[in-house]
Amino acid sequence: MCGVFGIYGHSEAAKLAYLGLHALQHRGQESAGIVSSDGRQLKLFRDMGHVIDVFPESQLEELKGVHAIGHVRYSTSGGSALRNAQPIAIEYSKGTLAVAHNGNLTNADALRKRLEDAGSIFQTSSDTEVIVHLIAKSKQQRVVDRIADALGQVEGAYSLLCLTEDSLIAVRDPLGIRPLCLGKLRGTEVPVLASEPTSFELIDADFVRDVAPGEMLIVSPEGTTSLFPFAPVARRTCIFEFVYFARPDSVLDGVSVYEARKNLGRSLAREHGVDADVVIPVPDSGVPATIGYAQESGIPFEMGLVRSHYVGRTFIEPKQSIRHFGVRLKLSPVGETLRGKRVVVVDDSIVRGTTSRKIVKMLRDAGAKEVHMRIASPPTEWPCYYGVDTPTRSELIAATHTVEEINQYITSDTLAYLTLDSLKHSVLAARESHLRRENGASAFPLPDPASSKRHLTVAQSLTETSFCHACWSGDYPVKFQPQERKEQLPLLHV
Ligand code: SF4
Repeated sequence: MCGVFGIYGHSEAAKLAYLGLHALQHRGQESAGIVSSDGRQLKLFRDMGHVIDVFPESQLEELKGVHAIGHVRYSTSGGSALRNAQPIAIEYSKGTLAVAHNGNLTNADALRKRLEDAGSIFQTSSDTEVIVHLIAKSKQQRVVDRIADALGQVEGAYSLLCLTEDSLIAVRDPLGIRPLCLGKLRGTEVPVLASEPTSFELIDADFVRDVAPGEMLIVSPEGTTSLFPFAPVARRTCIFEFVYFARPDSVLDGVSVYEARKNLGRSLAREHGVDADVVIPVPDSGVPATIGYAQESGIPFEMGLVRSHYVGRTFIEPKQSIRHFGVRLKLSPVGETLRGKRVVVVDDSIVRGTTSRKIVKMLRDAGAKEVHMRIASPPTEWPCYYGVDTPTRSELIAATHTVEEINQYITSDTLAYLTLDSLKHSVLAARESHLRRENGASAFPLPDPASSKRHLTVAQSLTETSFCHACWSGDYPVKFQPQERKEQLPLLHV
């Protein structure tokens, strides 16, 4: 759960990176950082907190230069601490280098042990530092080859931005698990790269195309080059980005996230319709799916819960414990919408079940006559090892309970989930309609014919089998031994 942003060749590179990161804030709120380059040396600043708090204007003025990369972080590897904030910047035998990484490596521990046995001293506990050490230790001469050599040894998910004194290198892992997009400042040839195109809107940049799985884009004084240095594999893009993680105004890999989520709601209504008076979202992520549910079912869409956007990182809890305090800080019921009504409530997922249980109680306390919970994804049974912060299997309620047992636990009248097939079809249907609007292949232009052919083959090959859906199916695209098995898990009391 991180966001990366990069820009090459602009006199206000750090300020545009700041804005770009601001539009990626939903991908990580723990720390933020920017590295800039004036063509000769790199400057780094990073701190804990939101982008707007980390970078006062005076700090941005210090980040002089014409190139910059930035990072917002939510820790999925290495814990939450300033030393693990990114970008990571190093001096090594060939110069200086900064790295910003979205994703998680699955073989980082083994690589780290090998590097430490060979004398490397690590400054952080994050998996990204493994990549940095591998680059520094590579026997290759050119930085591009060193990066390809390092990434050839890692497994897992990475959308990576690397900044040297005079080049910006973007790489997306061969499975294409995390997103990465290329844009251009409007009316210029200045390239920008970001986890999601939401960054481009804010800085007046146009979306050019997605970086393809396995692609390395090199931006240097010689221009922009596209390489495919890794052996090709079938892509496995994270489908959870479309359910929850990405911002709804993003279009990723040709899929409008907003439209995909509305399709999820439509499918839910078709598969799990129920007689009701209103359908309400768990805001904010459940809103588009609820609109889809309402459109398909004809049940009126209403706001039955209102989210507070001002919940800080820390708050003072009263000594005398108030029941459901945490949830009430974030969500409040709208009594007028709920009183005496049969309510369908749509959420994107159920993780531990505790929040859903509190929401159902809150709706009933506010006067709802019936509460029917509808989930716009299948039951979450498996943790993510590729960069999304899900708890261990033993904490996932769907790993140990049937749907009916979960229904009893959260105390809803009925509970239903979307099937995995419907999820995939909903996302692919959104892609079809987006491509029709964008006129097919013209959405992915590339200047170099050799790269174009490869790029088009990989970028346009999104099919039913191109997704990672391991958190629902346990079918992990990068194989490793899961540490827990379902039958060994303790049962929760319902
Ligand atoms: S396990 Fe789930 S959240 Fe993680 S990459 Fe796969 S689909 Fe995405």
